[in-house]
Amino acid sequence: MRYVIIGGSGAGISAIEAIRSIDKESPIDLFSDETTPLFSRVLLPYYVAEELSKPLLNFRSADFFEQNRITAHLGVRVQQISADSKTIHTQSGDSYPFNKLLLATGGNPIVPPIPGIEKDGVSTLKTMADAEKIYNLKGKKAVVIGAGSIGVESCISLKRRGMDVTLLEQLAHVLPTVFDEEAATIIRKRIENLGIKTITGEKALRFTGNGHIKSVITDSREIECDMVVIAVGVRPAIELAQTAGIETGSLGGIKVNPRMLTSVSDIYAAGDVAETYDITRDSNWINAIWPCAVEQGRIAGLNMAGRETPYEGSFRRNSIGNFIGVPAISMGLTQAETCSTCEGGETFQEIKRRTKDTYKKLILKNGRLVGAILVGQTQKAGLFFVLLKKRINVSEYTSTLMSRDLNFMNILPLIRRNADQFTETEFKEVMDTML
Ligand SMILES: Cc1cc2nc3c(=O)[nH]c(=O)nc-3n(C[C@H](O)[C@H](O)[C@H](O)COP(=O)(O)OP(=O)(O)OC[C@H]3O[C@@H](n4cnc5c(N)ncnc54)[C@H](O)[C@@H]3O)c2cc1C
Repeated sequence: MRYVIIGGSGAGISAIEAIRSIDKESPIDLFSDETTPLFSRVLLPYYVAEELSKPLLNFRSADFFEQNRITAHLGVRVQQISADSKTIHTQSGDSYPFNKLLLATGGNPIVPPIPGIEKDGVSTLKTMADAEKIYNLKGKKAVVIGAGSIGVESCISLKRRGMDVTLLEQLAHVLPTVFDEEAATIIRKRIENLGIKTITGEKALRFTGNGHIKSVITDSREIECDMVVIAVGVRPAIELAQTAGIETGSLGGIKVNPRMLTSVSDIYAAGDVAETYDITRDSNWINAIWPCAVEQGRIAGLNMAGRETPYEGSFRRNSIGNFIGVPAISMGLTQAETCSTCEGGETFQEIKRRTKDTYKKLILKNGRLVGAILVGQTQKAGLFFVLLKKRINVSEYTSTLMSRDLNFMNILPLIRRNADQFTETEFKEVMDTML
């Protein structure tokens, strides 16, 4: 058996560990077009903020490849896959055979066609090279375009570095896909309290500067700056898959079955590049977050090594608390109408409670919890996670769940009643962590 993994981040490394848990000997070749191995992308904003040095970004020890007997081809881009001859071809012209292949190529940052975007001082924040570029850029004023999670984290990182920062978002509120408007209003205030100028509902139209960026022109103002970070989203990196004839889906990612197998035999996909089952939507989705990439990588690796293991599905969860000084967690759907794939005949319910310093919202679909937003009081987030994951009908427990004094004992009868949704180990784990 010969394994090839393309992409050495959350999904790829997790797949390697899963393979090695079963198959200790077969050769594994890992290809990554990034030269720095084993760093966590999630921590890049802390590096940009000059709060974590490079070695502290690693999520596995430096001897990981040696320990796992991996041949790591770093800084090597895979150019093409020949599915028929089961061979991959690198940009430098080398070819490597495989019996089982994993595409863990993640996502490419979206670079909008704004005139002047090629100017020096404009960067995305995705790779270690991007982070180093931003880290090394000198200047006093930055504009971050896009107020999603990466945009918000980027602007706070730059502020912590002492820069004068403006956050620009074309939609009506910050974190538009992650929090609802009410939660976003609280979060925006926190961002502004940090001294970050926040502009929503305004679009960047043009960048000025003679070589180096000098300003961003929007539909109603000019913002002077020495640096721009573009954070308007990522798109699955499907180029290799497409040229290999691997089927992609309507969401723009690679289609996989519950074993993470693509439409081509012996070629698997996992992580930000794959469309996978979302429990809260009851349909496929791309949840581009680290824990989903790791879990999908693990499932792919187990199946590649011959242990049939289905992916149960997952859902989005985002936390922004570390950055803004107020804990804020959101999981699953943010509002009933964001469920674009929901079929008719379903009843949605939104239950909200707002106090001076907290906000809580639950979204129920036919009595089942499919979304939760917690701002200010997030200690019981683990409990909501379990209820979402296990598709538990909470309709009789909504007032308990909305209570400020919620604790696990209050919903223990509900968990016990639904014990058949858990494996024995899961049930024990829930009891151990919650009680
Ligand atoms: C700045 C930032 C902050 C984030 N913060 C959070 C957070 O707080 N919480 C969270 O859950 N998620 C966060 N994310 C998202 C999270 O990092 C991703 O969901 C996760 O990294 C996806 O892992 P992956 O293995 O699918 O792909 P990626 O991490 O995208 O890695 C794919 C790798 O494959 C390589 N590759 C692609 N094509 C080729 C090729 N042809 N040949 C060779 N190599 C190739 C890429 O260069 C890349 O190294 C953040 C992302 C960023 C960028």
